[in-house]
Amino acid sequence: MVAIIAISISARAEWFGDARPMMGTEISVLLWHDDAALGERLVHEVFAEAERIDKLMSTYIEDSRISEINRLAAQQPIVAGDELFLIIRRSLDISVLTLGAFDVTYESVGQHYDFRNRQRPDDATVEAERELIDFRFVELDQAKGTVHFRQDGVRINLGGIAKGYVVERGVDILRLSGVQHAIVTAGGDSRLLGDRRGQPWMVGIRDPRKDGEVAISVPLEDEAISTSGDYERYFVEGDVRYHHIIQPSTGAPASGVHSATVIGPDAVITDALSTSVFVMGVDQGLRLIATLPDYESIVIDADGRIYYSDGLQRPEAQNPEP
Ligand code: ADP
Ligand code: MG
Repeated sequence: MVAIIAISISARAEWFGDARPMMGTEISVLLWHDDAALGERLVHEVFAEAERIDKLMSTYIEDSRISEINRLAAQQPIVAGDELFLIIRRSLDISVLTLGAFDVTYESVGQHYDFRNRQRPDDATVEAERELIDFRFVELDQAKGTVHFRQDGVRINLGGIAKGYVVERGVDILRLSGVQHAIVTAGGDSRLLGDRRGQPWMVGIRDPRKDGEVAISVPLEDEAISTSGDYERYFVEGDVRYHHIIQPSTGAPASGVHSATVIGPDAVITDALSTSVFVMGVDQGLRLIATLPDYESIVIDADGRIYYSDGLQRPEAQNPEP
């Protein structure tokens, strides 16, 4: 599905945008430009960048560098290349910060899920593979730029951080080309550049249990916002919802939260932290966010209750009843 958006405001300057299915989700770009040819070209440059990053970081692509690392890094150190090395390093930093709630080695269990075909690992597989979930198995050599797994069978997957990187890079490209107003979105991750020309961007957080409905709208400028939800990739069996965010300590899908949103200056961090807060739950998650001055969070728990971190204005406070 391709949606072309070009809302003409004046004869010259316009909004240019497009959306494409990519990285197992939809990526969209909307930007303000006064040159139609350049505006359109920049939209396509963002998609080209997303494709480049996907080819580097996707475990679904056999000959991506990350697939090579998963195949070989237990036998010998593998050169990752600067960009992949940096994202893996940042992932490990977030693992330390979140006491292991965020852990790219969740993939030893994660690889056994196929949500489209309703497939999941049986209990014995989870029991065996969860022993291999531990970010400390991943050894980085900064000087050589290599990744080595200290244990056979370890695998990594950057699905919890790569889309944040895509939108951050997309906005970097636009900013360097002089764009002042834009939004780049990849699934649950958005990075905003400037405002929406005189108004803040309004970013909707989905109602986790009502398809197509927005639970909360957040006004934002020049920031990143990421939401992790148990509705993105899942299937239901009996009364269990098997979804794509794994609790590293058990190897099972994390429970207790329906969606976790993180807002802050860097989409790589908001992406990884939204997954982390989802795993950590309301109390521990919001306690972590309270220690990070630039980051805020909105969590919807399994009863549909909404929790806000201390730095956010509650909607009631923004719109007092008359
Ligand atoms: P979305 O894909 O909905 O934007 P998230 O940012 O929450 O989602 O990322 C979910 C993805 O993160 C999963 O599909 C999986 O690839 C990866 N993941 C799952 N559990 C963990 C975890 N505990 N730590 C790091 N990454 C994870
Ligand atoms: Mg995330």
